[in-house]
Amino acid sequence: MTAAEIEQKLETAATAFAAFCHSPLSERSRWLIQAAEILESEKETLGRLMTLEMGKPFRAAVQEAEKCAVGCRYYAEHAAAFLQDEVIATSRASSFVRYQPLGPVLAVMPWNFPFWQVFRFAAPGLMAGNVGLLKHASNVPQCALAIEDVFRRAGFPDGVFQTLLIGAGQVNELIADPRVAAVTLTGSLAAGQSVAAAAGKAIKKSVLELGGSDPFIIMPSADLVRAVQAAVQARTINNGQSCIAAKRFIIHDRVASEFIRLFVAQMGALKVGDPMDPRTDIGPLATAQVLVDLQKQVDETIHQGATCLLGGRRLEGPGNFFPPTVLASIPKNSPAYSEELFGPVASIFTVNSPEAAVQLANDTCFGLGAVAWTHDVRERELFINELQSGLVFINGMVASDPRLPFGGIKQSGYGRELSYHGLREFVNAKTVCIS
Ligand code: NAP
Repeated sequence: MTAAEIEQKLETAATAFAAFCHSPLSERSRWLIQAAEILESEKETLGRLMTLEMGKPFRAAVQEAEKCAVGCRYYAEHAAAFLQDEVIATSRASSFVRYQPLGPVLAVMPWNFPFWQVFRFAAPGLMAGNVGLLKHASNVPQCALAIEDVFRRAGFPDGVFQTLLIGAGQVNELIADPRVAAVTLTGSLAAGQSVAAAAGKAIKKSVLELGGSDPFIIMPSADLVRAVQAAVQARTINNGQSCIAAKRFIIHDRVASEFIRLFVAQMGALKVGDPMDPRTDIGPLATAQVLVDLQKQVDETIHQGATCLLGGRRLEGPGNFFPPTVLASIPKNSPAYSEELFGPVASIFTVNSPEAAVQLANDTCFGLGAVAWTHDVRERELFINELQSGLVFINGMVASDPRLPFGGIKQSGYGRELSYHGLREFVNAKTVCIS
């Protein structure tokens, strides 16, 4: 987009907000339900678009469109309760908190869940009365335009949700613009540092959902068969390109050899190929650069002394295909130990106690999700209390859910999305006292 086009979008957003912030909640809710209906009825077309642009298996893309519809319906139903005045008794005649929208919110989004990442910001954001300006990842422009189109056809007034086709280099200027009230970013650490600095300079509210290197801990009391199935799914979902994918498998040494035997067999049985083929488990990585970066991290980890138990090398031929890969005996400070691996590469570590598992799990700059499998009550409490993460799942795998807050600590970011926590990130919690 040219500078003049961007200027026009900003002006439209500001004008749209002035009216939209006064629209009745019942009307916003009706539009959001219509958006859900469009997503449901067009899920196959929209799913095909996602698969075409970033390579996720088609059936997962269709499920993503369905999940967006669920998110829209959730906020259409619950936002009124989340936005109700919160009465707080004081010595005054009346005192309460009123939640009011902030204005146009800039959403800088990644390609890995090209619809869900946007809807989990937009559904609560629009219900709260904000308007959205989407700067989507540069490799999913058709998804970005399709999302704008869904909101337009759902009935939202012109300018309430607009897509900006711009590069990362134009984001800081937008954050500085007085018409932009706040910014939310889902993406890498480097992008987070840049966006947070720009937001800090302009004193604007920001929410950051950044990378992760989630631990997946298994203790001897776990149901190992179920744990292995969950481990395979948690590592390979979305072709391994998920912030909340389990990346480091921390296994008690009493069950480690059996875990490795089952895990390697199941990872090796996954079918890599055409993401439109319903039999495919793992499609191509999203871009050539993702493939190059992943290969480099795997090579360097092996070079530093890790053992490769499965895969390890990109598949020859056209396409960005990387096979399911399992690494073990991973040296401290190697890429698989300290960085995020964005692809179907699992790193296995063994420990001899739950305390050692916690220590290893926390030995990272990230703090997004964490999983622990155990039937021991003491261990369960230890993991819930001591794991440094924004999400802890016991005997399962990390997944986002509109009803539950989602977000990280440490360099995985700050703020929360989803539930009422997410909706209230982009509101003015105005204290009102009447004497
Ligand atoms: P990325 O390079 O940071 O891109 C994400 C978005 O940020 C894109 O729209 C990108 O625009 C933009 N961007 C990049 N550099 C920027 C900068 N310096 N200033 C402003 N905007 C910038 O991330 P990615 O590689 O596409 O996505 C993968 C990362 O996102 C992983 O680390 C993953 O863990 C993380 N992620 C986190 C969550 C979560 O909820 N915590 C969810 C999904 C993904 P361009 O495309 O134009 O460069």
